[in-house]
Amino acid sequence: MFSSSKFNETKIGFIGLGAIGKPMAKNLHIAGFILKVYNRTIDINDLEPMNISQACSSPIEVASDIDVLAICLPDEKAVEEVIFGDKGAINSLAERNIIVDFSTISPDSAKSFSSRCKQYNIDYIDAPVTGGTEGAINGSLSILLGGNYLAVEKIRPILSILGNNIHFFGESGSGQKVKAVNQVLVAGAYASLAEAIVLAQSLELPMEQVISSLSKGAGSSWALKNRSISMINDYYPLGFKLSLHNKDLDIALKVANRLGLDLAITKQIKLKEEELISLGYGDHDLSVLRKSFD
Ligand code: NDP
Repeated sequence: MFSSSKFNETKIGFIGLGAIGKPMAKNLHIAGFILKVYNRTIDINDLEPMNISQACSSPIEVASDIDVLAICLPDEKAVEEVIFGDKGAINSLAERNIIVDFSTISPDSAKSFSSRCKQYNIDYIDAPVTGGTEGAINGSLSILLGGNYLAVEKIRPILSILGNNIHFFGESGSGQKVKAVNQVLVAGAYASLAEAIVLAQSLELPMEQVISSLSKGAGSSWALKNRSISMINDYYPLGFKLSLHNKDLDIALKVANRLGLDLAITKQIKLKEEELISLGYGDHDLSVLRKSFD
C-alpha cells in the first residue's frame, strides 16, 4: 500500500494540471506525497504556491522513478498520447507501477489502455471523478473505479486524499461506465435548472430566496446549489467546460446506442450544447446551458 507517511516516500507523477487536476495535485502535495508534475503549458506562478520542485518537460520524464502515475486530461486522444506517444510515460514507467486515470474517457478506451499497459506489467485503473472543481479543491470528490482490485487497494491512501466517496465497480472500464451514467444525470440537472431559472426570473420572483428555499426541497441538486448563481447572473466562470460535458454525452450516447437504448432527453440536451459550442461557448462553464433556454 502506498501511504503519505514520511517513512514511506511514495512518489507520484501527475499529468494534466487543468481546472480539476491542479487542485488534486495540490492536495497530494499538501498531504506529503512526493510529487512530480507535467503539463504542456506550465505557469510557474501556478506551481509556486504548490511548492512543487519537480516540474517535468515530458510525460517520459515525469514517469521515471515514481510509484504511481496520475493522469487528468480532457479526452482519450490526450491520454493515449501521454501514455503511449513518442515521449509517452510507458517508456519510463517501471514494472508494477500503477497508472490511475482520472480523465473521463469511454469505457472501451479504458479497457484497451488497461490491456496495453498489462503487456508492460503495469496496472491501469480507470478512476473518473465527479464533484466539480469544488470537490477537487476540498478533497471531497466521488471517485469511480475500474480495474485490478489489488492495485486499487494499493493506491487507496492516495485516493482518500482526493475524495471521500470512493467506489470500486469491477473490471477495467467499469468506472467509466458509471461516469457515463453520471453525465446523463448531470445533463438533466443542468438543463432543468436552466429552465427553472428562466421560469422564476420571468415570474419576477426574488431569486435569492427562491434558491435558498428550494435547495432544501425535493427539487434540489448539486447544480442548483452550486451553479444557479452563474445562471441568474448570466456569467459562467469555470467550473467544467461545456465542451468536456458534450464529449461525455457523446460517450454516454454511444454506450446506450450499443445497448439499443434511446436516451431521448440526453440527445436533446447534447444538441443544445452543440449549438452553443458552434456559437463559441465551448470553453464556458456548463451552466452556460441556460442560454439555450432564453
Ligand atoms: P481542463 O481543460 O481544465 O484541463 C485539461 C488539462 O489537460 C490541461 O492542463 C491541458 O494542458 C492538458 N492537456 C490537454 N490536452 C493535452 C495533451 N494532448 N497532452 C498533454 N496535456 C494535455 O480540463 P479539466 O481539468 O476540467 O478536466 C480534465 C478531465 O476531468 C476531463 O476528462 C473532464 O471531463 C474531467 N472532469 C472535469 C471536471 C470539472 O469540473 N472540471 C469534473 C469531473 C471530471 P494545456 O494547459 O497545456 O492545454
